[in-house]
Amino acid sequence: MNKGLMHSGPSRDALAYVEWLREDENFSDLLVQICPALNGHAFPKLKLRYKPSLVQLEGGISHLPLLDPSMRAIPLAPSEWRNKLEAGKDIDKASNSDLNRDFILLDVRNGYEWDIGHFHGARRPDVDCFRSTSFGLSQREAFASDPLADLDKEKTDILMYCTGGIRCDVYSTILRQRGFHNLYALKGGVSHYLENEGPVEWVGNLFVFDSRLSLPPSAYKPDAVSEARMIGKVSENPFATCYICSSQVRELRHRNCANLDCNLLFLCCADCVKNLRGCCCLNCTTAPQRRPVLPGYQRYKKWHLYRDSEVQSQLTI
Ligand SMILES: [Zn+2]
Ligand SMILES: [Zn+2]
Repeated sequence: MNKGLMHSGPSRDALAYVEWLREDENFSDLLVQICPALNGHAFPKLKLRYKPSLVQLEGGISHLPLLDPSMRAIPLAPSEWRNKLEAGKDIDKASNSDLNRDFILLDVRNGYEWDIGHFHGARRPDVDCFRSTSFGLSQREAFASDPLADLDKEKTDILMYCTGGIRCDVYSTILRQRGFHNLYALKGGVSHYLENEGPVEWVGNLFVFDSRLSLPPSAYKPDAVSEARMIGKVSENPFATCYICSSQVRELRHRNCANLDCNLLFLCCADCVKNLRGCCCLNCTTAPQRRPVLPGYQRYKKWHLYRDSEVQSQLTI
């Protein structure tokens, strides 16, 4: 089923490890993605964890036929994906080729991932988390905000993507059960695409689930970025905005709300960090379990570290 392995190390060692893994027939077709770590090890500690499910979804996923590949979306290689997106922009649909069929582009990641970068023309549900993604699932009257609501389930192509492909495996299985026929997913997810095609059709950066938080497309394929820029295929418009004041300043960065009980991951500008002391909203600034504003690109550590310092500062007042 879904296997997720993430490692960091010198590239020679990483490649030797991949070779060793592939000798096992269970891993012989493993899709390997390599991406440079910009500031030393991306995963400095070895952690082995058993997770019954890598993907969290409302209603659980154990009842889904996830072992059946025919239920999932058809994987499109990065080049096929790019062709499809580029063909979709052609106004002249007269050629009626397969590539020119109507499609809907779905982003099935979380809101905070979308906020910093996504495919041009993609849609995502108006929810914070993938867990509550709802496109195509409404049993009742069609929601205006659901692009799959009124759709011809047999004619329209649905293209979906996530960071590495696993969430698409889950979501496409659900849509298949709901009667959608033409489901496609970006093979290997956005990271695999940026490695192969560069930033064509992509706007912004890619959120990653480790201390680096987000990577520019140039981290995946440096030459492709300048090439795409030369032929005008990179959108330079900054579209990422501060979650609080909506400004589009350059130095936006992700942070967790300083209120432990909220912990919302959001994109924030330096002014709002200062004004709200690292919180996501006014309410959170008066919450009981607040942590200090973290400088730079650090992430919060265990609560007791802050709780103790809080107690100390109260004693000195
Ligand atoms: Zn702001
Ligand atoms: Zn908050």
